[in-house]
Amino acid sequence: MDIAVIGSNMVDLISYINKMPKEGETLEAPDFKIGCGGKGANQAVAAAKMGSKVMMVTKVGDDLFADNTIRNLEEYGIDTAFSQKVPGTSSGVAPIFVDQESKNRILIIKGANAHLTPRAIDEAAEQLKKCSLIVLQLEIPLETIYYAIEFGNEYGIPVILNPAPASKELDFDYVCKCDFFVPNESELEILTDMPVETDKQIQAAASMLVEKGVKNVIVTMGSRGVMWVTKERTQSISSHRVNAIDTTGAGDAFIGCFSHVFVKTRDVLQALETATVFAALSVTKRGTQTSYPTVEEVEEFMQ
Ligand code: ATP
Repeated sequence: MDIAVIGSNMVDLISYINKMPKEGETLEAPDFKIGCGGKGANQAVAAAKMGSKVMMVTKVGDDLFADNTIRNLEEYGIDTAFSQKVPGTSSGVAPIFVDQESKNRILIIKGANAHLTPRAIDEAAEQLKKCSLIVLQLEIPLETIYYAIEFGNEYGIPVILNPAPASKELDFDYVCKCDFFVPNESELEILTDMPVETDKQIQAAASMLVEKGVKNVIVTMGSRGVMWVTKERTQSISSHRVNAIDTTGAGDAFIGCFSHVFVKTRDVLQALETATVFAALSVTKRGTQTSYPTVEEVEEFMQ
């Protein structure tokens, strides 16, 4: 096994609406779609699409979404031995309302994701020990994140933490035990209380984290690219110019691809450059997981 993603899965319930109903009102809406998402699952799918052997430690509910979520992961070749159902609980769902101007309103119901406890890591321990990288986000309980970081440290497995969605409660003593900390600009702003409008400001905020002891800070900045800050260096990588149609899940695409290349090469710069291509290609199509490119498409773009 190359990569273990210990994280969330969500079912996107997307209603395309003409307008939001008022209180007590019932309206017809033109269209509806179900999509597989959740930051953990998205990152697992991105790494698997690049060719990594990925296992996913996650929890689904005991509802009609559960089998679909597991089947979807398996279709991408992801090991789901530790993707388990929680009796009496709903799956994590995200009802999304998209209006005619493509503006969206999103609710997140964590459901089974809130039941991913440290015990799940104990149960998967034998398989987790064989992984070369652990990938974490913040859609599961913080105590599980901390436990996973300790687990990685104990067995010498590098850990990537994507602090999304940003939580002020995140304990930086644990962040310092991770090998890579990958926020986007707004997460960096929330976590540091520093401005992030310009590249200089982003560098200052990331450097502040490095001063605190964070080893590698990688800030994703949408169409402006990526900034990698360590004690020794600051490196910027520009985004590729593409016809951006839907940027949802670009951050997850980036992290999944970065993880794959890092495990294969241990070369951070190469991983950043390839992930920048993978993420750029993902924004040229609609959807989240379904917008992620194939290895062939990535290779063709890089020629
Ligand atoms: P999301 O929350 O939608 O998953 P995010 O805010 O976490 O995204 P971003 O920083 O927007 O993540 O994007 C991640 C990476 O994707 C960027 O660093 C960049 O490499 C690539 N990317 C995003 N938007 C674009 C774009 N418009 N054009 C080219 N590349 C892009």
